[in-house]
Amino acid sequence: LSSPLFDPKLRESEFPIGKAVGFSLLSSALLEIEELRNKGQGSRKRMTVVLSNLFRLLIHVKPEDLIASIYILINKVAPDYEAAELGVGDSIIIKALCENFGRSESTIKHALATGEAKDLGEVALQSRLSQKMLMMPPKLSIEKVFAEMKAIAHVSGKDSQKSKKEKIQKLLVASRGEEAKFIVRMLQAKLRIGIQIPTLLQALAYAFTLTLPGTGSGAKVTDRRHPPQGTKKAPSAGELEAQMIAMEAAVRQAFSEMPNFDNLIKALMEGRDSRSLLGVCHISLGVPVKPMLAKPSKGIAEVGERLSGKRFTGEWKYDGERAQIHVLSRETIQIYSRNSENMTEKYPDVIQVVKDTLAEDVQSCIIDSELVAYDQVNKKILPFQVLTTRGRKNIHVEDIKVNVCLFAFDCMLVNGKPLVKEPLELRREKLWTMLRPVEGKVTFAVHKNFDDINEEEIQAFLDESVAGSCEGLMLKTLTENATYEPSKRSLNWLKLKKDYLEGMADSIDVVPIGAYYGKGKRSGAYGAYLLAIYDQENEEFQTVCKAGTGFSDEDLQTHYKFFKEHLRGSAETNYNVNDKLKPDVWLEPCQVWEIRAADLSISPVHTSAFGVKADGKGIGLRFPRFLRIRDDKTAEESTGPEQIVEMFEAQASVGGAGHADDDF
Ligand code: ATP
Repeated sequence: LSSPLFDPKLRESEFPIGKAVGFSLLSSALLEIEELRNKGQGSRKRMTVVLSNLFRLLIHVKPEDLIASIYILINKVAPDYEAAELGVGDSIIIKALCENFGRSESTIKHALATGEAKDLGEVALQSRLSQKMLMMPPKLSIEKVFAEMKAIAHVSGKDSQKSKKEKIQKLLVASRGEEAKFIVRMLQAKLRIGIQIPTLLQALAYAFTLTLPGTGSGAKVTDRRHPPQGTKKAPSAGELEAQMIAMEAAVRQAFSEMPNFDNLIKALMEGRDSRSLLGVCHISLGVPVKPMLAKPSKGIAEVGERLSGKRFTGEWKYDGERAQIHVLSRETIQIYSRNSENMTEKYPDVIQVVKDTLAEDVQSCIIDSELVAYDQVNKKILPFQVLTTRGRKNIHVEDIKVNVCLFAFDCMLVNGKPLVKEPLELRREKLWTMLRPVEGKVTFAVHKNFDDINEEEIQAFLDESVAGSCEGLMLKTLTENATYEPSKRSLNWLKLKKDYLEGMADSIDVVPIGAYYGKGKRSGAYGAYLLAIYDQENEEFQTVCKAGTGFSDEDLQTHYKFFKEHLRGSAETNYNVNDKLKPDVWLEPCQVWEIRAADLSISPVHTSAFGVKADGKGIGLRFPRFLRIRDDKTAEESTGPEQIVEMFEAQASVGGAGHADDDF
């Protein structure tokens, strides 16, 4: 776990403690990662080594720069729930490049079209290198770059384009060599290094295990492997490894309860270890947690196998939008999506309802719920599609046409006290006292408790849920193993959907990564798309099928217009695609689609769950159909290979086989 590039001891004179760290350090780490990936050596282990060494140096020199670097590495300037997005449009960047480096728009576009430059980052690098510099500009620091990125993300109003361009130009003028490339990619929010949060958390855990920050200002940081003389002796390699593993688990848990890097790093800098970290990084008001998710089950028999002998509850599974409601005080209420996006502006009516119906003794709480379109005249749940017609921003209660009803099903905190470690039975009892139900506005998920498996009763309850316009049931353990597990797809929650029972597989959430031009009636748009799932472990997109059905003419036009603005010159480094499937154009991984397929089969061309079920082969989908866009998921939250394998095995047991549609 050492690299001379980032060894604090070797670089002491270059990086005086407390002084702003040069952006060139972060840029060299990014370059090292890029080169490893280009050589096909970018395994997660290697990335972790590069990153943890970088982090160790920053812990020594300037921890504030560690926080800034982490945000830069995840293409963000703030946590997900703060609406500050980077993602500057290509046209502003091109203008800035033209004015800075005296290039014309046509030469830049030509360089991109011919592959002379892979992206605008490379254009910036080439332009920077070919420019003669009379005077070297002062060096950029990590702090300065991050501050400018933040400022750019927050610019708004009349002259925002001009102001963004000027800020970009200032950064480019001051950049040296490779820095220009990474600055442009950061502005586009596409660093293209494929690093995801789990790798960052692992690297942070390792860095903080190897490096003990001192307490108090100016205190010296200690390298655990070489402690100063007269202090505690260095741990053995085995002890250190065990500590690194424990720290990784604690850091992951802390981040799942409090997904905020500023707080996490501050706690680690205070010297919190794997035991004390969760004492300060836990579920908190105003910081949305990634919601707990359910495992799919293929029928009542499987539910029986999983829940036999346990007390559990069945709840109707409503088809709407997941909403995490944070009551910070009786006046301040915020609503977050499944994806931690702030939806407070979208649902002023729901905020009002919560204010009006909150029990008097509740000062603060976090509630998990589903918001569902509801017909108040006929007292009926409406389909999900109706909900999608509601506006998103600047909504005034008096203009709302689609009424929603809040179906609450869990609560994770009440009056400042976290409840996530409590069993569902207790959490739900608390929840039931917290809101006063009002017909068609707010209520609790319909439920039925079971002391053990009773297939007939589950079936009857499932039928009732379907008759009540629901998608099926959620089955949840009540007492044993019944804690709330943020961000986990847990076996303690099973979903039983009517679709599975009708012999259809569950829908799958995929990311379009390539497209093929349409022919005949479809010329002038893309006729088919190459679809992928996301593998969190390997941090890559793996293909599952080509899809050309399920689209209305309007869908085809909408997708075409959207993706025309999100093309890539070449495949992303984290696209795992067989040469035989090369699409006409590559797409950025920026949208999630829900699709349904007839079944899954072993595929010689698709790379999802590669080698798991057959040597040298992946799993593909047969007869996929487009259902809808999933705005509430990011590309990294699409279906994963484990779910694909589970679905494949579930159908294999009932005899599904065959070849994927586009097998060769
Ligand atoms: P997942 O959220 O599991 O990735 P998904 O977003 O495709 O999958 P579903 O498979 O339909 O959603 O099932 C889970 C979702 O069901 C939850 O995220 C939540 O929005 C919704 N839901 C509806 N009713 C309930 C309930 N009673 N308990 C928990 N979730 C519910």
